[in-house]
Amino acid sequence: MIIFRVKKEEYREGKLYWMDRLTKLIDFRRVHNQYDFIEFTLGYPAKGDTDRRAIFKCEGITYDYGNPEWGAPYTRKVFIIKIGERIAFCHTCGQSTPYENVCEICGEHYCDECSAVYDQFNQIDYNCCSGCASRERD
Ligand SMILES: [Zn+2]
Ligand SMILES: [Zn+2]
Repeated sequence: MIIFRVKKEEYREGKLYWMDRLTKLIDFRRVHNQYDFIEFTLGYPAKGDTDRRAIFKCEGITYDYGNPEWGAPYTRKVFIIKIGERIAFCHTCGQSTPYENVCEICGEHYCDECSAVYDQFNQIDYNCCSGCASRERD
């Protein structure tokens, strides 16, 4: 498994190429409009390849001097992409959810609203999605 090294900020030169890429980021936001996201890929991975594809919350983009310790140049301003937590999309409703929220039965990501509800009918004591919880109960 490839580990994505997470820095707090990611830097991009203020070139036309990145103007174009950041415009695409805005399009991506329009598709999943709950948060701003940035997706990192290694090579050209398949859609579900989470080892080579990671989506993070994007907490803002500015154009300024970055931190040289994290790879920013000393003398030029760059686009600074503030990176938040790694997220995934709920397999039931499509909402974004922390990457750690994985159902222990089906292995898919689920959000708070689609997680198993603990009540007198449902005594499941592990993390799982509501779909798997109702199948276990039957
Ligand atoms: Zn959901
Ligand atoms: Zn499940």
